[in-house]
Amino acid sequence: MTGSSNAILGEFAAWEAEGVSPFFPTIESNAGNRVRMNGRDGVLMFGSCDYLGLSQSPAVAEASIQAIRLFGTNTYGAQALCGHTLLHEGIEQHLARVHGKDAALLFPSGMSANLAVLTTLAGPDDVIINDRLNHVSLFMGAGLSGAKVRTYQHNDMNRLEAILSSSMDKRRRLIVTDGLFSADGDLAPLDQITSLAETYDAMVVVDEAHSFGCVGPRGLGAADHFGVVDKVDVIVGTMSKAIGSTGGFVVTDDQTQLLLRTSAPSYTSSRGASPAVAGATLRALEIIEDDGAALRTRLAENVEYLSSRLRVAGIDLGDTSSQVLPVMIGSEDTAIRVAHRLIELGVFTAAFTFPSVPRGRARLRVGVTATHSRAECDELIEKLLSARDELPF
Ligand code: PMP
Repeated sequence: MTGSSNAILGEFAAWEAEGVSPFFPTIESNAGNRVRMNGRDGVLMFGSCDYLGLSQSPAVAEASIQAIRLFGTNTYGAQALCGHTLLHEGIEQHLARVHGKDAALLFPSGMSANLAVLTTLAGPDDVIINDRLNHVSLFMGAGLSGAKVRTYQHNDMNRLEAILSSSMDKRRRLIVTDGLFSADGDLAPLDQITSLAETYDAMVVVDEAHSFGCVGPRGLGAADHFGVVDKVDVIVGTMSKAIGSTGGFVVTDDQTQLLLRTSAPSYTSSRGASPAVAGATLRALEIIEDDGAALRTRLAENVEYLSSRLRVAGIDLGDTSSQVLPVMIGSEDTAIRVAHRLIELGVFTAAFTFPSVPRGRARLRVGVTATHSRAECDELIEKLLSARDELPF
C-alpha cells in the first residue's frame, strides 16, 4: 500500500471513529425525493444523479416489473451467448437511432464500457490524451490499454494541441474527455476538441455519463449541445444517472462496434443487464425521447433557481453550467463535517474529497433533479446556509 493510500485510510478511519463520516449511508426506504437513511426519516435527497427523476417514475418501475414477468430475474448468459433479449436489442437500436450512428452496445456499467473502449481501440503504438479531470475509469482504461498516456490541464486547448502535434509519430491519437465533468459541472469544449481532432487526425471519445438526457437540444449530451455528434467517433454513457437504471453504453460506427462486440471482455464475457434493469432502461430511454424536453425545462428552472440564490448567498459554485452544483469548500475535513451536519438537519448531499477531486478542492456535490419542488430547493438553501453558520467555509 502506498503512503498516500495509507493517509486516505487514516483520514476515513478517523471520521468514522468520530461518527461524522457521511459515506456509506444505509438507505432504508425512499419515496420520491425523501429517503429514510441511517434510521432518520424524511431526509431530502440532493446527492443523487437521478437528474430527470426517472428512478422514481411509476412508468419505468412498471416496465421493469413487466420485464421480470416476461424474462425472469436473470438472463441465461452474457449477451454474446444467450443474454441478449428483445429488451437489450431494443436499447441498442434506440441508442444508435437517436444518435444517428451505425450501432450501439449495452455494457454492464459505464465503467466497463470505458475500459472496453480504451483497451480495444488503443495499444502500445498509440497515445491516449486525457483531460486531467476525466472520470477515473477513463484513466484506468488508458492505463490498461498499454498506450502512451498524456494528460492536459482541465479544458486547456493549447496544451491539448501541443500534445497532439508532438504525437504525430503514433499510429493513433485518441482524445478522451468527459462531456460534462462530474465533480465540476462544466462542459468540455467539444467544438474545439473535434476541430483539433480533424487537424491532427485524432479520434474523439466522449463520456456523456452526466450529460445524456440533460444537455443539448435533443438531450444527447455535450456533443449535442455543440452540434458535433457526427464528429465524435465514440460516445460512451451510463444508464445510472438521468436514465434512472444501471448499465453502460457505447454508440459508434459499424467497424468499432464489431471490434467491441467480438473482443471486449466486458461485453463478451460479463453478464449484461438483468431483465428488470433492461426493461427499466428501455422505458426510460423512450420517456427521454418523448418527454425529455419538458423534463429538461423543469431541470433548468431548478438549476437557475438554486444556483442564483446560492451564489447571492456567497456560496462558491465554481464554473458549473449544469445540474451538477459543486458547493466548493476546500478543506476535506470541513466538507465531511458540513455533509454530516446536513444529514443531521435532514438533507443529503454527496461529499467529494481527495482522491475523487484534487487535494484541497473538497466540495459537496449537489445533484438537482427535474422533480425537486421549489419548497425542497428552499429547504436545501436554508439548511446549507445554517450549516455554514455553524461550520464556516
Ligand atoms: N463516467 C463518469 C463520468 C461517471 O461519473 C461515472 C459514474 N460515476 C461513470 C463513468 C461510471 O458509470 P457506472 O456507474 O455506470 O459504472
